[in-house]
Amino acid sequence: MRLSPHEIPLTITVDVSQTRDIVTLPFFLPTTAVRVDWKLIEGPPAPYVIDLGLKDPTRVRGWSGGTRTEGTLTLTSATPGYLPGSFPAGSWCLLLGLYRLPPGTTRIRVIVTWFEFVPQWLRGDLHTHTEHSDGVWTVRELLQQAAVTGLDFVATTDHNTASQNLVTWQDPTSPVIRIPGMEWTTYSGHANILGLDDPLPDWRVNQTEDVIRLTDQLKKAGALVSVNHPYDEFQPGLRWDWGDDGIDLIEVWNGPWRPSNQAALDHWQERLGLGSQVVAIGGSDTHGPSDIVQLGTPTTWVWTESPSISGILQSIAAGHLYITQDPKGPTLSMQAGRFHVGDRVDCQNPDIVIELGLIEVGDRIRLINESGIEYETLAVSDTWSHTIIAQGQHFIRLEVHRYRDVWQHWLPLLISNPIYLGGSSS
Ligand SMILES: [Zn+2]
Repeated sequence: MRLSPHEIPLTITVDVSQTRDIVTLPFFLPTTAVRVDWKLIEGPPAPYVIDLGLKDPTRVRGWSGGTRTEGTLTLTSATPGYLPGSFPAGSWCLLLGLYRLPPGTTRIRVIVTWFEFVPQWLRGDLHTHTEHSDGVWTVRELLQQAAVTGLDFVATTDHNTASQNLVTWQDPTSPVIRIPGMEWTTYSGHANILGLDDPLPDWRVNQTEDVIRLTDQLKKAGALVSVNHPYDEFQPGLRWDWGDDGIDLIEVWNGPWRPSNQAALDHWQERLGLGSQVVAIGGSDTHGPSDIVQLGTPTTWVWTESPSISGILQSIAAGHLYITQDPKGPTLSMQAGRFHVGDRVDCQNPDIVIELGLIEVGDRIRLINESGIEYETLAVSDTWSHTIIAQGQHFIRLEVHRYRDVWQHWLPLLISNPIYLGGSSS
């Protein structure tokens, strides 16, 4: 996650007569702030003491007394003693407790650094398991591994349980955003529920009507529901046999690419052709260290305006995402004016501008519409730019493939959601 730092030096001179007062050093944070650091760089020598705390526009967010001279607050984590969470815009202040002051006057200097988030692609894994079901890692180990892998967010989706979502662990140095989840695991298929701490107090179902009713309830409560590995025949019960009703997301890329993923991709393409705007996502389904099923393989890249759970989920629901083999890329920009993947462009014959990065010579690039492959070429460098004028297609999406010598097969490297064209959807 890229953040732009902005430094604010703050200075105040106090007098011994102010001993035991709590004075404030105000500073302003705009709506784009997502992190603030502070550091006391000048104050009275020991045994004199300055206490520190932080207040947002409405409440005190933490107090570390004279124990610490610096701290960090982010959306997801904070120095002990401080409350992570939202960053309301407006007047914040450092609280200086003048507990013990030397005679005369004392100069106190603090550096506040706030960090700005600009809209960007965040990388994550939407399907993982921990020790809370049949995985190996603790939640902490999973999040640490996610940071090492280069992921910005990870969903914890253990089978038919929510206990993994209740584990509290935070590390200000690796603020991977944890999306609460659960893999709704029935004997006739699996679905990921994303966004609720305790989504299904009773997950048991007997018939399709139960699944449709609970899916509807989950969506009304703010969750996203994704059908997982819908064509997987690896073990009994993995394939989704509950139908498409009410399903807005489909996991077309589960772990290593294999025929069941291709079947899911083909099914998605068929639904798109029928006018559906179901969103394609990916997830590794990692259960711990493995040479085969690895965290971040595949990676889902989500265009994110706000680096929060709700911000990421809103973008996923809108289809503002693409999936790649791993966190290394490729990178994609596919836009028609201000619209991009997942959006419906409601104007005649728009130009769609596509830019790919981090590809290799020989990679196969395909543009796909409702009739199939519209355009295909092989990359001749590590980037590719192309503009097409849409002329009557219902949608255009992009795939990049790489030839794998070891398999003697072309395998997907990137699958994008479509840009939808024309004025209607169903
Ligand atoms: Zn799973």
